[in-house]
Amino acid sequence: MTKMKGDCPVCQSKGSVEFESKTEEIPYFGEIMESTIYCFECGYKHSDVICLEQKDPVRYSLWINKDNINARVVRSQTATVSIPELGLKVEPGPKSQGYVSNIEGVITRFEDAVKTALNFVEDEKSKNNALKILESLGNVKNGKMEVEIIIEDPFGHSTIIHDDAFKRELTQEEIKDLKTGFITYEKE
Ligand SMILES: [Zn+2]
Repeated sequence: MTKMKGDCPVCQSKGSVEFESKTEEIPYFGEIMESTIYCFECGYKHSDVICLEQKDPVRYSLWINKDNINARVVRSQTATVSIPELGLKVEPGPKSQGYVSNIEGVITRFEDAVKTALNFVEDEKSKNNALKILESLGNVKNGKMEVEIIIEDPFGHSTIIHDDAFKRELTQEEIKDLKTGFITYEKE
């Protein structure tokens, strides 16, 4: 594990940020580097995972059930994670985090995101919709409901490790439609 200190990009405090990184070998996937940055002054926190090997654009899909809910998941910052049945999607962006978890952990992240959103919605319709999604996510967790989870990563730095998971390369069309989280400039 490597630790470094630095200045905070958010609150500008000197030497208040700790940067931590470690590498890990994920079977059937390769070597990854997990990094976390944390500011003791303002609480700014960001984590990411990158794969240290060259990979092809990839799309993983898995019908979640109680037997594969513990399947290992690597989600890099460049991946789009979606559950189409519930209309849920997390796209790469400055605030999106990379992580190593399992399917259950990914569902918990979706739950947290919906709960946060609930604090900001005011109309009854959106509120009920969010509550319904939360109920569904709970049902998925305890095996009462099956939904498909899809992870698309144009850099191939993400994976679902399970025999039930279906893997194929992303098409050029699909790659064009995905967000990468990077700012790109189009020349005129
Ligand atoms: Zn700070």
